[in-house]
Order: sequence, then C-alpha cells, then structure tokens
Amino acid sequence: MLNGKTALVTGSTSGIGLGIAKALARQGANIVLNGFGDVDGPRAEVLAAGQAHGVRVQHHGADMSRAGDIEDMMKFSAAQFGRVDILVNNAGIQHVASVQDFPAERWDAIIAINLTSAFHTTRLALPAMQAANWGRIINVASVHGLVASAQKSAYVAAKHGIVGLTKVTALENATTGVTCNAICPGWVLTPLVQKQVDAKAAEHGLSNEDAKKLLLGEKEPSMQFTTPEELGELAVFFCSAAANNVRGVAWNMDGGWAAQ
Ligand code: NAD
Repeated sequence: MLNGKTALVTGSTSGIGLGIAKALARQGANIVLNGFGDVDGPRAEVLAAGQAHGVRVQHHGADMSRAGDIEDMMKFSAAQFGRVDILVNNAGIQHVASVQDFPAERWDAIIAINLTSAFHTTRLALPAMQAANWGRIINVASVHGLVASAQKSAYVAAKHGIVGLTKVTALENATTGVTCNAICPGWVLTPLVQKQVDAKAAEHGLSNEDAKKLLLGEKEPSMQFTTPEELGELAVFFCSAAANNVRGVAWNMDGGWAAQ
C-alpha cells in the first residue's frame, strides 16, 4: 500500500516509534529512523519488516531539542529519498514532579522535544507534501493530550499542545491531500513507562508484575497495555485511502482511560 513512499519517524530507535516504523515498512514505505542508542538492532528489525518490498532504511541522529539538527534531518531525508511523504512526530520524554518542584531545565526539554520539534518537522515537511498533493502527518500525542494527571505538568502541557497543532495543521490543509491526525495512547510498556513501573515498585515495595497492575489499575479500565504493534496498525490506517477525509482527530488507544 505504501510502496514508493517515504516515512520519517522521529524517536524510532525504541518503543512506539519503532513499532510504527516497522508497520509502515511492512506496507512498503522506505523509512528514515531517528533517535538515540543502538541503531543497528532497530534498523535490522525495520529492514526485516519491509523485506518483501525491498524497503530501504536510513537513520539520522538529530537531537529533537535542536532546530538546526531537525533542519539537517529534513534535508538528509529529502536527499536520500526525494521527499518525506509520511511524517510521524513521535520522539518524547517524560519527567514526573509536582509543579513547584519541577526543574525548569526539564520543563524546557519536554516542551522542546515533545512539542516544538513537531512544529519544526511539520513546517519543513509541508511544502513538498503540498506540492505532491499527498501527505500524512501523524502526531504521537497521548491520552495526556486529552486529560491530565498530577505530577506531569510539562508532559500534559506539551501533549495538549500537540493536539492543538494537529488540528491547526489539519485545517490549513483541509482541501488538499495532506492530512494531519494525532494518536493518543494510554499505557504502553516501553522504556519510558518501565521507569514509572520501577518507581512504583520502589515506592510501594512491590514486584515488577504487581507494580504494573497498580499502574494500570489507577488509570486504564482494560487492565491491559496498548502495544507498539497496535499503534503501528493505527498509523497504517491513517496512511490508507480510507482515511483520506480523517482530519484533525485525536484518536485514543487507551483501554478506556479517557472514557471515565
Ligand atoms: P521510548 O523511551 O521507548 O522511546 C523514545 C524514543 O525517542 C527513543 O527512540 C529515543 O532515542 C528518542 N528520543 C528521546 N529523546 C530524543 C531527542 N532529544 N531527540 C531524538 N530522539 C529522542 O518512549 P515511548 O514510550 O516509545 O514514547 C514514544 C512517544 O509516545 C512519546 O512521544 C511518548 O510521549 C508517547 N507516549 C508514550 C506512552 C507510553 O505509555 N509509553 C503513552 C502515550 C504516549
């Protein structure tokens, strides 16, 4: 379905971004990976996912808190593949503290990586998408783009912000073949969330399994983690022709979290 298209997925060396990159590669899209840490393992996984289509995979190590790095990454992607047809703004970090104790430096980093980076990638990707009259921008927000939790001021502010950016981008392109939508996961058991499981285990003297149950029980009625594979399939749907007129939605995959 996505043969000949190119997808740039930010923060795709781990977790949800890697799951989305694999799902898009499985549909035939060439992939630009981005993110820190081991690159060879994720690259091999994405290549294997796209093997039947002979997809090509590149990596750019842009730090998403730096506008200059993001500009380099966009130029690199265009030089490698012609243009970015599918942009997945996924890179994100978390920090947990009450507002009065929240380190200002962590606030700035979360707003830069979880929100401002998406403004930069979007403004740089749009001209080529508009010229081709086809494009898909998928913002990985969170259920925290719709509702709040205590201790997560910067994250909730950034995620509400990216849902707003999603709507504006969708509206400005509403008469074109370029769509913009957000995905709002509940708990997904990635390194970002494992840190919060570890903190619960330490705080309450619990096993890893009991800490997971406590975390889910506080928020997620299904008592199940959403998986990167499920989120990847939602991204594939947003890229399909059936989603041509899906514009500006913030789509939960949250086990009922926001329905409460
Ligand atoms: P993760 O920690 O597994 O992966 C984060 C990715 O972002 C990694 O590839 C990492 O290298 C990259 N990254 C971090 N800082 C970066 C930077 N400055 N520049 C470039 N890349 C950077 O996290 P995840 O859980 O897969 O989260 C991915 C996205 O999904 C985030 O936006 C997060 O807020 C969102 N999300 C996660 C959950 C969850 O439960 N895990 C729920 C809702 C939303």
